[in-house]
Amino acid sequence: MKRDIYEDDHEAFRESVKAFLDRTVVPNVDDYAENKQIPREFWIGAGKQGFLGLEIPEEFGGSAAGDYRFNAVVAEELAKVNMSLASSWGIHADIVAPYLVHLTTDEQKKRWLPGVASGEILCGIGMTEPSGGSDLAALKTTATRDGDGWVLNGSKTFITNGYYGDLIVVAARTSPEKKARGITLFAVDTTTEGFTRGRKLDKVGQPQSDTSELFFENLHVTDDDIVGELDGGFIHMMQNLPQERLNCAVANIAHAKQILEETLDYTKQRQAFGTAIGTLQHNKFLLAEQFTSIEVAEAYVDKCVMAHTRGELTAIDAAKAKWWSSQVQNEVLDHCVQLHGGYGFMNEYRVARAWKDARVTKIWAGSNEIMKELIGRDLGL
Ligand SMILES: Cc1cc2nc3c(=O)[nH]c(=O)nc-3n(C[C@H](O)[C@H](O)[C@H](O)COP(=O)(O)OP(=O)(O)OC[C@H]3O[C@@H](n4cnc5c(N)ncnc54)[C@H](O)[C@@H]3O)c2cc1C
Repeated sequence: MKRDIYEDDHEAFRESVKAFLDRTVVPNVDDYAENKQIPREFWIGAGKQGFLGLEIPEEFGGSAAGDYRFNAVVAEELAKVNMSLASSWGIHADIVAPYLVHLTTDEQKKRWLPGVASGEILCGIGMTEPSGGSDLAALKTTATRDGDGWVLNGSKTFITNGYYGDLIVVAARTSPEKKARGITLFAVDTTTEGFTRGRKLDKVGQPQSDTSELFFENLHVTDDDIVGELDGGFIHMMQNLPQERLNCAVANIAHAKQILEETLDYTKQRQAFGTAIGTLQHNKFLLAEQFTSIEVAEAYVDKCVMAHTRGELTAIDAAKAKWWSSQVQNEVLDHCVQLHGGYGFMNEYRVARAWKDARVTKIWAGSNEIMKELIGRDLGL
């Protein structure tokens, strides 16, 4: 089905993203996996092309596109190449950047935004802790008043861009008695004394991106490092989660669609019983179902992209897009593996790696169960 949300300037922008990826990333993406690192050259290159500053005002080095479809184009093109790229870029440019644009003072904007737009300051966000990620309001990292400043103690885990990041937005408890209303966001410079990183975590999929534990031991931050309101962190996170979930949904669909198209080609080439395996009725019907499933999901996600572009996307619709797209993605990729037979289980085949890369999308950014919990509550249950 022809998509109708993108106009000529989005498609021209898409071509520039594709050209950048073909030139700089596609030939090197396996090295990224080996080193478990998206190299800084990627970030600097993407910054020069304007792919990191879509949310950032021009005076601070960005382009302030003001149209979420440009973000969606980058997410789609990255996901088509590799899911780790979409996720690491998403955290930096589509998730943390909006916090630093919308919740900061002029002084903070000057301090952080030019480096975020250029790729010199790589960002992460630390919400999840070893004791739990779903129940954000129960987080244990504390920030305690100390004179004019704050002392941070605690730890985070599973933090994307955590191992190589320069600035991490950390959620910490500032008013222990207030539960959700006692959490504050701090932008932590990772060169600050008291900040240490744990292991580069060994993930089942997405080996290209660095995911890390972070530790804070008597780390000093000041009021000038607070992002948004004191004790307002939980509300800020809730306000920003719809964009994070939409980013995930866009990438989920683009990734699955790319692999499905590659699988269709494979089934036209691969022979069994004297015919291309795709022409066997079971496989033909299976492929028909998967293309239908992807396109129907894509239509919903596109509708969410347009709603968000107009500033109308609700948290509940974003939750529906997130859980449904990750479910569809995982189902489609599982069938793609099956259609590749034994080759589908070999790491040298992209389909096998994509299948592993996709699994986490049902877990992160709020697990699918949490998405259904939110939707259920909205139904009055
Ligand atoms: C590769 C990767 C990258 C990540 N990147 C980041 C990042 O950059 N920043 C960050 O802060 N976090 C990040 N996360 C963390 C991620 O968001 C959490 O893993 C996720 O929110 C789930 O939290 P948890 O792992 O603590 O699981 P838990 O909260 O312990 O949940 C365990 C299981 O119980 C289920 N469950 C929990 N509560 C309920 C409920 N009320 N009803 C029904 N089921 C429930 C969950 O759905 C899950 O299936 C990342 C995770 C991974 C794996």
